[in-house]
Amino acid sequence: MHSFRYEGLPARVLFGPGRRAELRAEVDRLGVKRALVLCTADQRQFGDLGAELLGDAAAGVHDGAKMHTPMQTVEAARALAAELDADGYVAIGGGTTIGLGKGIAIQTEHPVIAVPTTYAGSEMTPIQGFTEGGVKSTKVDMRMLPRTVIYDPELTLTLPPSYSGPSGMNAIAHAVEALYAENANPIVSLIAEEGIRALGQGLPKVCRKPDDLEGRGLCLYGSWLCGVALGSVGMALHHKLCHTLGGSFDLPHAETHAVLLPHTIAFNAVAVPDLLRPVERIFGSPPGAALYDFAASLEAPTALRDLGLKETDLDRAAAMAVSKPYPNPRPFDAAAIRALLGAAWAGDRPET
Ligand code: NAD
Repeated sequence: MHSFRYEGLPARVLFGPGRRAELRAEVDRLGVKRALVLCTADQRQFGDLGAELLGDAAAGVHDGAKMHTPMQTVEAARALAAELDADGYVAIGGGTTIGLGKGIAIQTEHPVIAVPTTYAGSEMTPIQGFTEGGVKSTKVDMRMLPRTVIYDPELTLTLPPSYSGPSGMNAIAHAVEALYAENANPIVSLIAEEGIRALGQGLPKVCRKPDDLEGRGLCLYGSWLCGVALGSVGMALHHKLCHTLGGSFDLPHAETHAVLLPHTIAFNAVAVPDLLRPVERIFGSPPGAALYDFAASLEAPTALRDLGLKETDLDRAAAMAVSKPYPNPRPFDAAAIRALLGAAWAGDRPET
């Protein structure tokens, strides 16, 4: 057994169908008297649901959350929270909505309560990317870590297969990179493997039958564990490439993870085959090819060109991805990343 450091983040989680009914009790428990409920305009019904569940503890509903958390949206939400004298934030939705809650909370001591409706995992991390002037920069602050998370699989029954698959691949990516993280440790690796296993079982069910509550429970449980892995150890090449393609080429978040994961894992499997055994146990061997087949079986996208990236962007993306050093189990240069991105752009099935 190697030496390691393990650090757990505080978490209070309520999990199960119907547990959204306990939102008011959780808000009371945290001493919040006037909670601002956050959502996106697309998912306004989640905001209205939150307000209904909170009753007279709701200060209002704000449906201004936007993908990539532009700073203008954070400032608008902060101004509204101050105007309404809010003393807590309830974020009901995917990573976009939870990101807005984090953006308000980072400047106050008021808690965020998260009710996730996708598999992104943001609710388990004190990390958030904010976009300003076309640049996405990441902040880490414990005030952004939600104080209570309510996982209610019934709220995910409406997530369409076209998003469930990519969102699940996004979650799996957190856990797979945790297995070979620079600060990986056996506890987080256990959590990561269990998260991948649950999603490996649940995603085929919910992509086939979106109202399969048992499958939804497995997927949400898996995404929780994968979110814990993301919040506990450092990510590497895969997350860096997704961050570059999302932040600078405006590619959609979950779909980009789904396309790139088989390629980044095929690349790293050459260097750390033993650390990726859990992926082989769950999906088969070799791990990159097996993840590609899994994504394809969910009908998730498998080519960057289908997400709107131009072939002429590949050189620039590769150069950006290597511009700053960061840890990865296999060393790389711009040519290696260009080759990886080229294969992902074309939708090739990786061989390793
Ligand atoms: P999202 O929140 O934008 O939701 C994706 C789509 O699903 C939207 O169209 C939304 O309207 C819809 N949707 C959400 N829940 C639904 C439901 N239950 N039924 C039907 N439709 C539903 O996207 P996401 O993938 O959840 O999150 C992506 C964002 O989160 C990105 O900005 C990413 O950077 C961020 N993120 C942050 C972290 C972190 O730790 N800070 C982790 C993961 C993702």
